[in-house]
Amino acid sequence: MTLEGTQLIGRETVLATGEAFHAIDPSTGETLQPAFPTGGQAEVERASELARAAFDSYRETGLEARARFLETIADKIEGIGDELIERAMAESGLPRARLESERGRTCGQLRLFAKVVRDGEWLDVRIDPALPERQPMPRVDLRQRHVALGPVAVFGASNFPLAFSVAGGDTASALAAGCPVVVKGHPAHPGTSELVGRAVQAAVAECQLPEGVFSLLQGAGNEIGQALVTNPSIKAVGFTGSRAGGTALARLAQNRPEPIPVYAEMSSINPVFLLPEALEARGEALAEGFVGSLNMGAGQFCTNPGLMIGIQGEALDAFLATAAKAVEASGTQTMLTPGIRDAYDRGVAALASSDKAREVARGQSSDAPNQCQTGLFVTKAKDFLADETLQAEVFGATSLVVSCADQDEVKRVAEHLEGQLTATLQMDDADVDFARDLLPTLERRAGRVMVNGWPTGVEVCHAMVHGGPYPATSDSRTTSVGSAAIHRFLRPVCYQNLPQALLPEALRDGNPHGVSRLVDGQREH
Ligand code: NAP
Repeated sequence: MTLEGTQLIGRETVLATGEAFHAIDPSTGETLQPAFPTGGQAEVERASELARAAFDSYRETGLEARARFLETIADKIEGIGDELIERAMAESGLPRARLESERGRTCGQLRLFAKVVRDGEWLDVRIDPALPERQPMPRVDLRQRHVALGPVAVFGASNFPLAFSVAGGDTASALAAGCPVVVKGHPAHPGTSELVGRAVQAAVAECQLPEGVFSLLQGAGNEIGQALVTNPSIKAVGFTGSRAGGTALARLAQNRPEPIPVYAEMSSINPVFLLPEALEARGEALAEGFVGSLNMGAGQFCTNPGLMIGIQGEALDAFLATAAKAVEASGTQTMLTPGIRDAYDRGVAALASSDKAREVARGQSSDAPNQCQTGLFVTKAKDFLADETLQAEVFGATSLVVSCADQDEVKRVAEHLEGQLTATLQMDDADVDFARDLLPTLERRAGRVMVNGWPTGVEVCHAMVHGGPYPATSDSRTTSVGSAAIHRFLRPVCYQNLPQALLPEALRDGNPHGVSRLVDGQREH
C-alpha cells in the first residue's frame, strides 16, 4: 500500500495544507517518506462534525453489528501483513518480535471488546417496576441503562505504535461503548498510523456504518490536538503520554464552556519494595529479574520499575552489587524518538548531578543514534523524602534504589510517593506481616498491587487495572487497559414511566437482548 501522507476524514482522504513533517528512523536518523502535511482547524472541524452526525446512529447499533465491526477492524489490521510491522519498525526502532506481539495484542483487545459488547453486561440494565399499590406512595416505573458519552478524541501513544495508538485500547473501548472516534496520531509514527487508519476506514465501509464513526488526524505541534479537545462535538478524551501533555489537555478540557472528561495515562515510577526476608533469601535473583524488567523495551514502558526500596544492610548491598554488574553488561537500545532520548538524557543528568543521589552503574555506551544507556542510582530515604525531584519519571532504562534505615522509614517512603500505576512487593512468607502493614498505603497510592512479579507486562483481561491516582492518570476511577476501560465512555440514563414502545430494547419487558439485568433488586439471568 502506498502511503499518501493524508488525513483520513470519514470515508475521504484529505491532503492537508499545514507544515509538513516526516517520520524519522530513530536507529539511523534517516528521514522517512512520505511527507505528512499537518492538519488544521478545517480538518478538525470536519472530522468532529462527521463524528457528531454519526453518533446517534452508531450508538444504537445492535450488539452483534457493533461486535462484528470490532472484529472486522482486527481482521483488516492482520490483513495489512508484514508491511505494517516493517513500517512500525522503521518509525519506532522497536524490534520485529515486539511489534508482532503488539499487533497480536491490538487485535486481541479488539476481539475482547467484541465479546464484551455481545455480552451486554456494560449496559448495566436496572429495572424497578412500578408499584402502583405501594403505601404510602406508589412507585413509578424506573429503568436504567448506560449510553455512550459521544465522540471521543484519542491521542496515539509514542511507545505503543499499535496497541495504544490508532486502533489501540482507547479506540477499541470507545468504539465498543458506541462512541465515534477521532484519533490524533502520534507524530513519531504517521505511516503506521495511516496504515492502521485505512484498515479502520475499510471496516467502517464494509460494516456499512456512518462514515463519521472514525477519522484520523495527523500533525506535529500542539495546535491540532488542542483544536480537537476544544471542539464542542468532542465529549471525552483518551491520552497516553507525558505528564505535561496530559495535564495541559485535562486543563483545556476543564476550561471548555462544556467541560469533558480526560482519561490521561501519564507518569509512574512503579515502586518495588524489597522486603527483608525475600532480599536475604534471593537477592541475586531479584537483582537479575529487576535489571531484565528495567531494560525491557529500553525502559520505555509506563510500568517500568523506576524505584526500588529496601532496608540498608548486607542483603541490600549484595542486591546492588549484582544489579550493578547486570547494568554494566547491558547493551544500548534504540529509543523511540530523538525527543524521548533527549528527555531521558536530561533525566539521567539530573540524577547524576544531584547531591542526594549516587551513580551505582551505567550500561554500555554507543555512538549510534538515539541510544539508551542503562543507569542505576542510589539514594538514602531521608534524601528521597526531602527532594521531590527524585520522584520524577525518567522515561527509559534508569532506576533509583532508596536505602531505608528500617521498616518505619520504608513506610514513610511509601506514604510520600505520588500516585502510581503499580506497586510491587517482593516478599517471602516471613514478610507477610510487614506486607500487610504496607498494603493500605499501596492501595491508596497505586492502581495495581502485585507480589513477586515485575510491573512490566500488562495483561489485557477483565480484572486488569491500568490506572491510579495523579500523576499516574488524570482520573483514578478507571483503567485504560482491559475490558473495564469501556466504562470511561459510558454514562447512566434513567427512563421513568416510558411506554414499552418508547423504551430502548434492552430495557423492554421480556429482555429481548437476553442481557443480565437487575430487576427489582434481583439479578435476572
Ligand atoms: P507527549 O509529548 O505527551 O505527546 C503525546 C501526544 O500528545 C502527541 O500527539 C502530542 O502532540 C500531544 N500533545 C502533547 N502535549 C500537548 C499539548 N499541550 N497540547 C496538545 N497536544 C499535546 O508524549 P510523547 O511524545 O510520547 O513523549 C514525551 C515524553 O512523554 C517522554 O519522554 C516520556 O517522559 C513521556 N511518556 C510517558 C509515557 C507513559 O506511559 N508514562 C508514555 C509515552 C511518553 P505533538 O507531539 O504533535 O505536540
